[in-house]
Amino acid sequence: MVICTGTRAALPDVPGIVEARPWTNRHATEADSVPGRLAVIGGGGVGAEMATAWQGLGASVTMLVRTSGLLPRMESFAGEYVARSLTDAGVDVRTGVSVARLRRPDPDGPVWLELDDGSELEVDEVLCATGRAPLTDDIGLETVGLTPGDWLEVDDTCRVGAVDDGWLYACGDANHRALLTHEGKYQARIAGDAIGARAAGKPLDTAPWGAHATTADHHAVPQVFFTDPEAAAVGLTAEQARQAGHRVRVIDVEIGDAVEGAKLHADGYTGRARMVVDADQQHLLGVTFVGPGVAELLHSATVAVAGRVPISRLWHAVPCFPTISEIWLRLLEAYRDAAGD
Ligand SMILES: Cc1cc2nc3c(=O)[nH]c(=O)nc-3n(C[C@H](O)[C@H](O)[C@H](O)COP(=O)(O)OP(=O)(O)OC[C@H]3O[C@@H](n4cnc5c(N)ncnc54)[C@H](O)[C@@H]3O)c2cc1C
Repeated sequence: MVICTGTRAALPDVPGIVEARPWTNRHATEADSVPGRLAVIGGGGVGAEMATAWQGLGASVTMLVRTSGLLPRMESFAGEYVARSLTDAGVDVRTGVSVARLRRPDPDGPVWLELDDGSELEVDEVLCATGRAPLTDDIGLETVGLTPGDWLEVDDTCRVGAVDDGWLYACGDANHRALLTHEGKYQARIAGDAIGARAAGKPLDTAPWGAHATTADHHAVPQVFFTDPEAAAVGLTAEQARQAGHRVRVIDVEIGDAVEGAKLHADGYTGRARMVVDADQQHLLGVTFVGPGVAELLHSATVAVAGRVPISRLWHAVPCFPTISEIWLRLLEAYRDAAGD
C-alpha cells in the first residue's frame, strides 16, 4: 500500500485566524473575482507566486513576511531580485513583520490585521501562504502504530520503516522529503519498482536506473518559482553546502551583462547565476538562476549536479551562441580566473 494523500495548508496559530476566513492556496487559485486589497502572509514560493499573480490581475497586494527576505530556502539574492521586481510592480513587500491578530467582524466585510510592529492593515482578503501540513489525520494511521497527522518517514525506497513487515510506502508530499510534483513522481517510479522487485524476490539494484533508491531527492532537488523574474535552483545553497561540511567555492555572474542571449531575450535583462562548487571533488553542489526565462535553463544544472559532472568535463558541454545558456561558459571562466589557472 502506498499513501499519497498530500498536504493541506497549515494556518498560523494567530488569534482571529478562523473568524477571518483566510484564503489558502485553494482559494488563491480558484477565486473568480479580484479583491481590491489582498494581504499575503508568507514570503515563500507560494506567497511570492501568488503575490505576483494577484498584483498582475489588479489587486493591491501587501506581503507580510516574517523572515528578512523572500524565498528563504534559496540563495538570498533570488529573493532580493523577486522582492525588487514585486515592489516595482506596486506590491508593498514588508519583511521582518508578523501578524499578531486578525479581526473580521462582518464575514462579508474587510479584514483588519494587527502587526507586531504596532501597525494595522485593512484589506478585503487575506491569503495564508504559511506552509503545509500532512493530510494523514483520518486514514487510520493509529491502527498500524503511527500517529495521525504526522509526516510519514520513509527510507530511500519510500518504505515506511516504522511499520512491521514492510508493506507500507508513502510517496509525494506525505513523506515530507521534497514537496514538489516532480519529486513525488520520481518517488513513485522508484517505489513502484522497489515494490515489484521485492515481490519478485529480486535484488534492489536491478532497476534500469541502477538502484531502487531515491538518491536524488536529498542532494539534487530542482525547484522553480514562477515569479517575475523566475527563480530556479537545484542542489545546495552555499550555506547549506558549508553546513553539510563541504569546502566550497562560490561563483556569481550577472546574466544580463555576460551573454548575448540575455540581451536578445529582453532589453535591460537583469538576472544572476551562482554555482556552488565542491572545492575538493571539483563538481557542482548547487546552482541558482534568477532572471526572465531561467526555468528552462535549470535542467542543464540538474544534470550536472545529479550526475556530479566534473568541472573539467563541463567545459566540453558547449552552450549555443546566442542563448542564455552561454552563462555556463561565463561561470566556468569566472571559476578558472578566480582560481588563477
Ligand atoms: C500554490 C501551490 C503551488 C505549487 N506549485 C508547484 C509547482 O509549480 N511545481 C511543483 O513541482 N510543485 C508545486 N507545488 C507543490 C505540489 O502541488 C505538491 O508537491 C504536489 O501536488 C504533491 O503531490 P502529491 O500527489 O503528494 O499530493 P497532492 O497533489 O496533494 O494529491 C493528494 C491527493 O490525495 C487525495 N486524498 C487526500 N486524502 C485522501 C483520503 N483520505 N482518501 C483518498 N484520497 C485522499 C487528495 O484529494 C488529492 O487528490 C505547489 C503547491 C502549492 C500549494
